[in-house]
Amino acid sequence: MNALEALIVRRIRAAGPITMADYMAEALGHPVHGYYMRGDPFGRAGDFTTAPEISQMFGELVGLWCVDTWRRMGAPGRAVLVELGPGRGTLMADALRAIAVDPAARAALDPHLVETSPALAAVQRARLAGAGATWHTGIGTVPEGPMVAIANELFDALPVRQVERTPAGWRERMVGVGPDGRLTVALAPAATAAAMLVPASLRDAPSGAVAEMAPAALVLADALARRVAARVGAALIVDFGDETPAGRPTLQAVRGHARAEPLADPGEADLAAAVDFGALARAAREAGAAAWGPVPQGRFLHALGLGLRAERLRRRAAPEQAAAIDVAVRRLAAPEGMGTLFKALAIAHPALGTPAGFAGAAPTESPC
Ligand code: SAH
Repeated sequence: MNALEALIVRRIRAAGPITMADYMAEALGHPVHGYYMRGDPFGRAGDFTTAPEISQMFGELVGLWCVDTWRRMGAPGRAVLVELGPGRGTLMADALRAIAVDPAARAALDPHLVETSPALAAVQRARLAGAGATWHTGIGTVPEGPMVAIANELFDALPVRQVERTPAGWRERMVGVGPDGRLTVALAPAATAAAMLVPASLRDAPSGAVAEMAPAALVLADALARRVAARVGAALIVDFGDETPAGRPTLQAVRGHARAEPLADPGEADLAAAVDFGALARAAREAGAAAWGPVPQGRFLHALGLGLRAERLRRRAAPEQAAAIDVAVRRLAAPEGMGTLFKALAIAHPALGTPAGFAGAAPTESPC
């Protein structure tokens, strides 16, 4: 067993089983052994590839979304451009290049990066040298004011709790220590507070159904919504997930581009859970913002001009580069790629109107 599993086993032996969310937080965020604390997990040689690492087109189109949002905000002379969970800094670098097409927008937008991993913040600092960016470990220290925010594949990394429907009621799935001394999943013997949080759509689910809840994701959606509603602005959240939860566990481990066992070798595999976009939209509306979508990533990118951008890049590309551009378009936008599994949600000030890329997506209905 690796060093982090040994630490978690010791903690459980001392204080009892932990929630799946606590396990996920340790596996991803332990200061020494946590997956994101160890270094750079992205790309072909790493564990998984995200949309901005597939092609510069993704970040460029998100940059255009930022410019359009800033203009809808009334083109304020200063606004914060926040990225949450910036990875290698590729998305921000590509977005800033596209934003610079409108020099007034680039001059007004002040980049702020929210990153918990010192190792990845160092990668981002090197990538974004000269961009005038500021780093934070949480949204709380980002200056208040007009805001454009983006987050790609951050929400899926936020810890989830899981509760399972049993004949005796909802019971939380906990991480404990099995007879072999290794980490194992066991149901809590009595109801825990998480049972109260089961979404309405699953309350009558049959025995065996699992509800997954991400309290930290709701807290972050609430914070973003409060900021855009208090002044002006919008946040774009792109991730894999659905509008309503499926009633089964989605927490998965990925290592070397293949599925792995979530409890095996903590800190050595990425852990991610499908984002419950409906829950984020409800949290945003309750905080006074409008929520748009989710719309499938493919539709979102095409609405922002993916086809045109690819055509323009292809025109000055060598034949093998042109073929690579076509492959990237399919990976980003086709149903067999990320086109439908991944979705975009916008949280916006109610007066902003339909954000770019969300035309035809009615604002998720208001609570009143
Ligand atoms: N957006 C990037 C990286 C996605 S991976 C891309 O698309 O390529 C998730 C990123 O979120 C990593 O940079 C990770 O270190 C960071 N992260 C994880 N938990 C976080 C948290 N609670 N707050 C801020 N960043 C976090």
